[in-house]
Amino acid sequence: MNILILGSGGREHALAWAVKQNPKCDRLIVAPGNAGIAQIAECANFDIENGAEVVDFASENAIDFVIVGPEAPLAVGVADRLREAGFLTFGPSEAAARLESSKSFTKEICVAANAPTAGYGHFTDAEAAKAHIRENGAPIVVKADGLAAGKGVIVAMDEQTALDAIDDMFGGAFGGAGAEVVIEEFMEGEEASLFVLVDGEEVLSVGTAQDHKRVGEGDTGLNTGGMGAYSPAPVLSAEIEAKAMEEIVKPTMRVMKERGMPYQGVLYAGLMIKDGEPRLVEYNVRFGDPECQVLMMRLGAQALDLMQAVAEGRLAEAQVNWADDHAMTVVMAANGYPGSYEKGSEIKGLGDLPSDSMNYVFHAGTKADGAAVLASGGRVLNVTARGASLREARDRAYAMVESVDWPGGFYRKDIGWRAL
Ligand code: ATP
Repeated sequence: MNILILGSGGREHALAWAVKQNPKCDRLIVAPGNAGIAQIAECANFDIENGAEVVDFASENAIDFVIVGPEAPLAVGVADRLREAGFLTFGPSEAAARLESSKSFTKEICVAANAPTAGYGHFTDAEAAKAHIRENGAPIVVKADGLAAGKGVIVAMDEQTALDAIDDMFGGAFGGAGAEVVIEEFMEGEEASLFVLVDGEEVLSVGTAQDHKRVGEGDTGLNTGGMGAYSPAPVLSAEIEAKAMEEIVKPTMRVMKERGMPYQGVLYAGLMIKDGEPRLVEYNVRFGDPECQVLMMRLGAQALDLMQAVAEGRLAEAQVNWADDHAMTVVMAANGYPGSYEKGSEIKGLGDLPSDSMNYVFHAGTKADGAAVLASGGRVLNVTARGASLREARDRAYAMVESVDWPGGFYRKDIGWRAL
């Protein structure tokens, strides 16, 4: 099979790493890719958010299967254009991708499906939104309706913060994404993520994970794209996972199908768990980054078979062969991240690290300069390891982190603290 993966982050490096191990994979191209991906696949440069360009590239290169990594191409219908042109594609349609690109849409689907989630109001007018906040009081959560790269959510512990967030959003702080807002009831509990493959009809869990969004140890400081993750998530016991499937995932997928938008791809359910009861925080329409890195480490080559079964509508026949294992990824980021940070510092010592089915360094933001590897983003490396226990996976991952010679970067030393 000739396989094309769209994307350039640690998530896509992990997808490429897993796909590449499958003997079915003859040729692997990642667009645009990064310096780490270039060591295991061909990289190509074109606009992955332009459906016509993606279709042209896939035609010219006799691609048999396309895997869409990030949400942006999905939200503009790249998977639709590919399927219309006859390409087998992993990833939801533009209509189904609204489960991530519109928070009010997701809320409506949850109501129709009777799926447990926070109570909410949807507003297109600042005064009505403020009246709702005054009526309900704090804590309360204000969200820009559209995609805002994780920055459009304000968890307000006091009323004034919520009211100010309304002024910011209607004032254009998030562009078009903030022209409509969703205001939610504040949910208490512990967060974890459930990843589910869906082929329009059938659903299959491909694992649970927890990440660390804050930049500082003890989950303090500014929000980031994620400083580390581990799988499985102990808080998502088999019993709670089954509940989330029956009460949240299956009913919402049924409603999507009934409304003519069957979902195909991976569904990432962000859950809040309290007293053994899961509630939906959000859906994303792609693998999480860095959660994908730990899931791929655990799934290995079978990830390709599973994604192909989704695209071909054969999920009913598929199953996951789990090794009773754990995985952890530690993010190494450029000094200053998530604020302004320097680009171009050299990373040494990567060549001496183990690189096998138990240990791997996925690249998130790197650039090759001859034989040297340079940092080119905020989150730069995802040092990932697997073990018989989470503790073992952690010890392996940190042993690798400590061997990386990169004065320009930093990492959190407590990834997994909640589970350990
Ligand atoms: P991301 O994609 O970065 O996770 P997002 O912009 O899609 O973010 P959400 O996931 O909806 O936004 O919210 C971001 C975070 O805010 C959640 O992970 C959670 O910690 C918190 N949060 C969101 N909604 C609620 C809620 N109703 N109650 C409590 N906390 C919430």
